[in-house]
Amino acid sequence: MILDAPTAPAKFDGMEGELNPRESAEARLDEAAERLGLDEGIQKVLLFPSREVIVHIPVTLDDGRLEVFTGYRVQHSIARGPAKGGIRYSPDVTLDEVRALASWMTWKCAVADLPFGGAKGGVVCNPMILSQLELERITRRYTAELFEFIGPEIDVPAPDMNTNEQTMAWIMDTYSMHVRHTETAVVTGKPVQLGGSRGRVEATGRGAMIVVQQALARLNLNQKDPRVVIQGFGNVGGMAAKLMAEAGFKVVSIIEYDGAIYNANGLDIPALARHKRATGSITDFAGGENIDREEAFYLDTDILMPAATENVITSQNAHKLRTKILCEGANGPTTHLADKILDEKGIFVIPDILANTGGVTVSYFEWVQDRQGYFWNEQMVNERLAEVMVNGFRSVMEYGEKHAVNNRIAAYMLAMDRVAFAIKLRGIYA
Ligand code: NAD
Repeated sequence: MILDAPTAPAKFDGMEGELNPRESAEARLDEAAERLGLDEGIQKVLLFPSREVIVHIPVTLDDGRLEVFTGYRVQHSIARGPAKGGIRYSPDVTLDEVRALASWMTWKCAVADLPFGGAKGGVVCNPMILSQLELERITRRYTAELFEFIGPEIDVPAPDMNTNEQTMAWIMDTYSMHVRHTETAVVTGKPVQLGGSRGRVEATGRGAMIVVQQALARLNLNQKDPRVVIQGFGNVGGMAAKLMAEAGFKVVSIIEYDGAIYNANGLDIPALARHKRATGSITDFAGGENIDREEAFYLDTDILMPAATENVITSQNAHKLRTKILCEGANGPTTHLADKILDEKGIFVIPDILANTGGVTVSYFEWVQDRQGYFWNEQMVNERLAEVMVNGFRSVMEYGEKHAVNNRIAAYMLAMDRVAFAIKLRGIYA
């Protein structure tokens, strides 16, 4: 691939390269593009973001000092519809990271067949040392600076790391003040009282459970009470654990950053959640035994769901996994060099760009409901989510069979094919 534009991605070598999410994504995209026989020009279009906005936001701090924060918004693709993706607040946000995450959103939306492109945003700030009022001022000024670049038909932000329902409420309010009417569809992940969708909080965990159920049926594995190990007991992992336990799964172990807990008969998830709320940790839970985190990760199990952070399965440890199904609740938990080892071990991988699309799918439902002005009950949200997840799973399986590739490459091929098709159909305006 010939790259000569200034934003050409840097290549890394060795472990540093393996752990760079952009490197992993590109390795898989290159393979998917080659298998699809995608022409070089379209590949270039897909490699580069369509728009990058950088803003420097002056904000008055609570002590009266004036500070300037840098914010980004990257729209990777708008070929299939308005750009869609979260906004994160962190001292470590970089433009390169935001670019990689924006393209990830393009592929996810395409796998789920949602009429959205991909975007991501970020503000370089440390929310741990900022007051609520300072965060509100940062959010409102960031929104005002991006005013002409976002909107229900242009680019629809959502929460991400260190942003939440309250942040989305401020964005919605600021945008609405500028357009002189309430415009709820400008962001998703809002409080239900301000146009949010029922079922959004559970959506990513629920979607992951649905694709696991599809995989169990496809592989003819125990569907009654399969054993599950989950890494991460936050939104995705906590919800997946709760819903899976309710559906009869045996959640035998939960792994957190400070320890892991095990019960061969299945953990009582609501009780574990109460214990964590009370003590701040999952360890020393009366309904299980403390277990070494590594030992828990390599347990013999039907399903392993990393739902915490990226790069937890690498070329260094993939050979130790003893799971039949790997369901990637987190974004980027597996490096591209680990893929081959998982293939050789015959582990059935449900890749992140399929497994965790439940969240953006219900965000799409939120946008639809806001535009309709008609709000669905939770049952309707969950039924429609199930339909999207099952269709996504089946489409990935079909690509895998047709092209004799693993599930991850199949998911990338499906996504690239859909986006490339839209680009070709629209044509290049010039
Ligand atoms: P969260 O912050 O609610 O939960 C993450 C949990 O993982 C926390 O409890 C944290 O203590 C734990 N954790 C962090 N590092 C860990 C480690 N090394 N080992 C074990 N536990 C660790 O975040 P979340 O919203 O649940 O997101 C988790 C992952 O899922 C992220 O990769 C995120 O990008 C991805 N994701 C989230 C959504 C969503 O709707 N929330 C949607 C798609 C993808």
